[in-house]
Amino acid sequence: MINSSNTSPLDLAIIGGGPAGLSAGLYATRGGLKEVVLFEKGAPGGQITFSSEIENYPGVREVVSGLDFMQPWQEQCFRFGLRHEMTLVTQIKPHGTHFAIHTDENKVFYAKSVILATGGRPKRAGVKGEDTFWGNGVSTCATCDGFFYKNKEVAVLGGGDTALEEALYLAKICTKVYLIHRRDTFRAAPITLDKAKNNPKIEFLTPL
Ligand SMILES: Cc1cc2nc3c(=O)[nH]c(=O)nc-3n(C[C@H](O)[C@H](O)[C@H](O)COP(=O)(O)OP(=O)(O)OC[C@H]3O[C@@H](n4cnc5c(N)ncnc54)[C@H](O)[C@@H]3O)c2cc1C
Repeated sequence: MINSSNTSPLDLAIIGGGPAGLSAGLYATRGGLKEVVLFEKGAPGGQITFSSEIENYPGVREVVSGLDFMQPWQEQCFRFGLRHEMTLVTQIKPHGTHFAIHTDENKVFYAKSVILATGGRPKRAGVKGEDTFWGNGVSTCATCDGFFYKNKEVAVLGGGDTALEEALYLAKICTKVYLIHRRDTFRAAPITLDKAKNNPKIEFLTPL
């Protein structure tokens, strides 16, 4: 255990080891904080490590996998003194002027400050093949991955603003976009819906 109630509190606890948490860790340690710990259950890297190809990061010339892309991030942080605690944070409570950080291994850490960088988790549709092709044909970000589908046919699931806006974006680079929605009413803004309906490349597939 890195610290307990009878030792000095950490200068900073960062919860989450994705790009945001690692960036915070880099700047905090390089900026002079000594006791900085990153809490992340597995290897740091975050959700981008599920991506098979990254090619939109400025300055990175080669197409790399998300795992390869994130590997130097953690090495760079550890070089400046960031420490990694492989655990899931279950609770954070005020503790006097500090914070008490509880983990799934029933440990408690104390910190003067906390940065939450717990990211997000894309909602899954639960369809067959989704897990197999996740990050390699199934995507949750058209601006990130749309280029990989240039001049191909794609399908977008959903009927909200995100789905419709992603469909419009993809229609610029793909030959055909199927917009698949489980209802015939849409939550997307009417103006976005109109644009999508008037786009000749977008075909709506909804219940009859
Ligand atoms: C398949 C895929 C492909 C992508 N491709 C691209 C791309 O090509 N280009 C691009 O710019 N973006 C891409 N993205 C988006 C990119 O991954 C995210 O924008 C980015 O990861 C967000 O970083 P983050 O640090 O905010 O959060 P996350 O990456 O979500 O990291 C948060 C971390 O916090 C951890 N965590 C959460 N709760 C706790 C807790 N209680 N205790 C401890 N740890 C916790 C999680 O395990 C996770 O590792 C892609 C995403 C996916 C899923």
